[in-house]
Amino acid sequence: MIQRFIEGVAAILKGFGITFWEGFQKPVTIQYPEEKREVRPRFKGRHVLKRYENGLEKCIGCALCAAACPSDAIFVEAAANTDDKRFSPGERYASVYEINLMRCIYCGFCEDACPTEAIVLGHEYALAYTDRASAIITKKMLLEPVPPAGQDTPQVTEPGKFTRAVPEMKDPQ
Ligand code: SF4
Ligand code: SF4
Repeated sequence: MIQRFIEGVAAILKGFGITFWEGFQKPVTIQYPEEKREVRPRFKGRHVLKRYENGLEKCIGCALCAAACPSDAIFVEAAANTDDKRFSPGERYASVYEINLMRCIYCGFCEDACPTEAIVLGHEYALAYTDRASAIITKKMLLEPVPPAGQDTPQVTEPGKFTRAVPEMKDPQ
């Protein structure tokens, strides 16, 4: 009887000791959303539409990403570029680009299919929405900010300078 009492008290003291000790350890939790956790370099979060350094959009509206998407989450509509109103190099740009996040499974097939490396899965993971309409992200929401040396689109460009839609790329090393 006394032995069981002593064992019980020892167990309680041990439990309190652990709680006391842990109170002085560095917390493993963070104060989200004020504080955000750094993700791994290859983390696949919400998509981003990339630009060139001069601000022109990399997307040429070819819709290969939409064709490759296994869940039919991407909608692209293309329109023609002119030198007076240019959004991207080459003949066409995406006048409408939408992704339905309710359908997306973050597989990255759209990234792999893109001939200009325009669509990439970025590091944004705050993807909550409260209604169906907010689950559809538009081109305006997807486009990355204009680089410091660039201009926003549409741009007025020199005739005959941006005729090539897909840039010359180096062979993978
Ligand atoms: S990540 Fe996959 S599912 Fe999501 S839009 Fe791209 S191809 Fe479609
Ligand atoms: S993101 Fe890439 S694959 Fe999709 S329409 Fe634009 S250029 Fe084509």
